Amino acid sequence: LKIVEGEKLRKKLHNTILELKGNIRVFCRVRPLLSDDGAGNDTKVVSFPTSMESQGRAIDLTQNGQKLSFTFDKVFVPDASQVDVFVEISQLVQSALDGYKVCIFAYGQTGSGKTYTMMGKPGLSDQKGLIPRSLEQVFETRQILQAQGWKYDMQVSMLEIYNETIRDLLAPNKSGFDASRAENAAKQYVIKHDSNGNTHVSDLTIVDVRSSKEVSYLLDRAAQSRSVGKTQMNEQSSRSHFVFTLRIMGFNESTDQQVQGVLNLIDLAGSERLSKSGSTGDRLKETQAINKSLSSLSDVIFALAKKEEHVPYRNSKLTYLLQPCLGGDSKTLMFVNVSPDPSSVGESLCSLRFAARVNACEIGVPRRQT
Ligand code: ADP
Repeated sequence: LKIVEGEKLRKKLHNTILELKGNIRVFCRVRPLLSDDGAGNDTKVVSFPTSMESQGRAIDLTQNGQKLSFTFDKVFVPDASQVDVFVEISQLVQSALDGYKVCIFAYGQTGSGKTYTMMGKPGLSDQKGLIPRSLEQVFETRQILQAQGWKYDMQVSMLEIYNETIRDLLAPNKSGFDASRAENAAKQYVIKHDSNGNTHVSDLTIVDVRSSKEVSYLLDRAAQSRSVGKTQMNEQSSRSHFVFTLRIMGFNESTDQQVQGVLNLIDLAGSERLSKSGSTGDRLKETQAINKSLSSLSDVIFALAKKEEHVPYRNSKLTYLLQPCLGGDSKTLMFVNVSPDPSSVGESLCSLRFAARVNACEIGVPRRQT
């Protein structure tokens, strides 16, 4: 009995420490094995320790007979549903309504489940991902808060960063992709931050939204715009970063309170290394751009963690765009998506090592209670 009590106490203590930790969290999600996951699927490379202390937070990866253990704020097993995952982030979504700047990233190699986690499977409502679920929650909560005197204005923008170039996914596209591509090239998409910590991207389409249905329609349009890009430019959506931004401006007339929150949901480009992409020419350029922005993202996170005076936000479009939402009292969550496919074990190890370094970070000022 004493041992069980001790375990419970240790677990409670650990959870308290988690609460006190800085504003960056890392969740790991392992997707199920798929039928086209290569040969040798009977070799299990991913397992989950079941001790009371590590359950739900630890993952073991076996490579060349060697077992390596990693611990995160949360680990989702392949059976975890989209609801199981959303339950764990709904508080974070709520804090955007409370006036926080929130970033949720999906990091991992191509095919590890980033888009499934963020968007889900189109047309299957039980498999909706974080983006549609977050929007439903935001609009439902808005209705509840309206009864308490709050009025909200919400705006959505969606963009893609490909080869360090921004593409507006909601730009009107009346005359076909080639024309929109030419128009896009003519636009500058200059990123600026104002003194209130708001980001402005010149020429970027910003749409006022009043319901999650309206946002669903915009998400479909953005997906279409991305897939047109994919076929005509031989570009894969996995090779660009997708950034969904919801700006929330709230005002309470009776209490004269004002809040300005931002919810950024980001499906990052695949993190696979150069050798695997077999890169030459355009592919090499793409891979270098992806490596640059992903390493800039980690440089920013590590500089914030070490409280360095200079944080290298300007080293990539992605980090410069998200500057006001990384650090300070903003809240960041990174999903590290992992494939259980034995042929991906090397990439999975890289992703877990990267995520473990991020998870050890404590950035920003202590969290306010929401
Ligand atoms: P990525 O965006 O990282 O390239 P995807 O999200 O496209 O990867 O996932 C690759 C494949 O695995 C897709 O067919 C997707 O539907 C499937 N998949 C990913 N995660 C899950 C999951 N948790 N449950 C069921 N299928 C999944």
